Amino acid sequence: MKNIAFSSWDGKIIDNRKGASSKAKKAEPLFPRLRTGESPAAVMAWNGLVLTDSKQDVLSLTVRYLNEARKISCGECSVCMLGIDTLLDMINSLAAGESSKTIIADMNNVAKQAAANSKCAFGQTVFTPVIDALKYFKADFQALAKGERSIDDSSYEVTVTAPCVNACPASLDIPGYIELIRNGRFAESLELIRRQCVMPGTIGRACTHPCEEACVRAGLDEPLAIRLLKRAAADQEQETGAAVPKTPVAEKNENVAVIGSGPAGLAAAYRLRRKGYGVTIFEALPRVGGMVAAGIPEYRVPDEVLNHEVDVIKRSGVKIKMNSRIDKLDMKAFEKKGFKAVFVAVGAHEGNAMGVEGEEQKCEGLVDGVEFLRDMNLGNPVKPKKKVVVIGGGNVALDCARSCKRLGFANVEIIYRRTRKEMPAGAEEVEAALEEGVKITYLAAPVKIIADKGKFKAVECRKMKLGAPDESGRRRPVPVKGSEYQVKADMIIPAIGQKPVLPVVSGTKKLATTSWGTIKADPDTFETSVRGLFAGGDCVLGPATLIEALDAGNRVAESIDAYLNGRRPEVEKLSFEGVDLARQRNRGFVVKAAAADAGMMDAKERASGFEEAENGFSPAQAMDEAKRCLRCYRLVVWNEA
Ligand code: SF4
Ligand code: SF4
Repeated sequence: MKNIAFSSWDGKIIDNRKGASSKAKKAEPLFPRLRTGESPAAVMAWNGLVLTDSKQDVLSLTVRYLNEARKISCGECSVCMLGIDTLLDMINSLAAGESSKTIIADMNNVAKQAAANSKCAFGQTVFTPVIDALKYFKADFQALAKGERSIDDSSYEVTVTAPCVNACPASLDIPGYIELIRNGRFAESLELIRRQCVMPGTIGRACTHPCEEACVRAGLDEPLAIRLLKRAAADQEQETGAAVPKTPVAEKNENVAVIGSGPAGLAAAYRLRRKGYGVTIFEALPRVGGMVAAGIPEYRVPDEVLNHEVDVIKRSGVKIKMNSRIDKLDMKAFEKKGFKAVFVAVGAHEGNAMGVEGEEQKCEGLVDGVEFLRDMNLGNPVKPKKKVVVIGGGNVALDCARSCKRLGFANVEIIYRRTRKEMPAGAEEVEAALEEGVKITYLAAPVKIIADKGKFKAVECRKMKLGAPDESGRRRPVPVKGSEYQVKADMIIPAIGQKPVLPVVSGTKKLATTSWGTIKADPDTFETSVRGLFAGGDCVLGPATLIEALDAGNRVAESIDAYLNGRRPEVEKLSFEGVDLARQRNRGFVVKAAAADAGMMDAKERASGFEEAENGFSPAQAMDEAKRCLRCYRLVVWNEA
């Protein structure tokens, strides 16, 4: 890693321009670095200025930074826009040799006043590194006035993010779509969301919303209801029956095949179609949507929401062939049909075995979680019995248990080997399940399936205690000797993870896979070992979140487009790992306000059927909630070397 030549990051000054001091080495700041782990030569951003190469041209960097900041300034309060324009004018005066003696002090005042009076976090932070540059690189600005320096701001790279955006796997422009909602511009907000998320109604309901944990307001009062705001934009379109605007595309000659219609497949298909490619999706099931259609119960994502999203995709010109399972993928045959690239997005639809004694008998009453949900969603639910035991602590286990309640099982018990704290399921899902009467037994794991005449009768469990953390960082469950006990039930649903069922590729090289049974694909290009064959989503990542799968689809589309045009896809080079994006050196006064609550149906009522459990925001509620957003855009202008 390169040494710091200068840093004002977080207001802590390290100045090694005249030689490194041992003190400076101890205080290595956490600023945006390259994904390779290397430090860029220069970084100018919301929290300071960092140079690892003292020869970097801070003057040109500042000019580029201000020009980029001008593009983000929304003009709503006009303060930062005026400040940026004034500073750029003053730099022009310096370059023209027309400035007064006090110009650098005047520039400093302009920047400070603009920061102090800006109404959003962007305006409050954007001047921070400019003030640092004026203070610590004053000589460079003076040299410009003397005609000893010139400006060349062409060689920099630009990254714009926000704490919430950086946490969203699909990097949605969250402050952007929230701002449009605040102004009642729901259709434009949805259009902006759709650029990165083609399933806004589904994701607005079922996303695990890591963005909200990262929201700056989480540290002040309550995070913005980012997920529900996205749902509000989607609901508005559906409720008002607004026509989805058709974006004309310049047609291209190439066709792409997509195998699987889950979030990854749909996202890639839509994006490729909008670039003008002919796209055909091959779906094995009689319903489109992959895990959303076959794995998420209606009370979380109603059918009409998914159907609307699929309609939008179809209207863009994507062809979808249902009941078209592709077990054998003959690349030559696809090529003959005119497909220049194939994207495998088959998801992970086969449940993992528990690996316990008696499981191999496959007795009646032992039903895998994904199979249970698939049958239910395709219209063949199991007949309710008295008691069901669900094994696992993820969202699939929770979906199975809550669905069993709705199907009419009298007793539903989840058995999970760790504690509630380690449960991978979303906290809201766990809370809702408990409210609906699902019993959760923690620190227990199945060891034996007990059946009689081919029928499931009971599961033998063993108590667990928590040991040292495992590779996932969660504390490992350790069996308690001699603690075995039996749980009698009519049915058992193991839901302990899934794996993909991959098509057999023929007519070309072998498809490389991992020891987990997933496809090996290049993390940047998503290309597999087979030329022209791309893979992404759960069949590469293993069971991931919906938004992670959807993001993979977006990126695969970019990669296929690059491949068909004989270039490499562009990938984000900058990493914010370890960087506190919520931190800012200058924050305005924030009036505290709790997040709007859309509410849920009464627990008893919702557990009696499959009606949507969670309410959405009304337009007025959404606009009010959107007002809480602080608009924390973080601009980074940087130079790799
Ligand atoms: S306040 Fe708005 S911009 Fe800031 S982190 Fe939260 S949602 Fe994102
Ligand atoms: S997709 Fe999920 S993570 Fe991204 S902004 Fe929406 S709710 Fe947040």
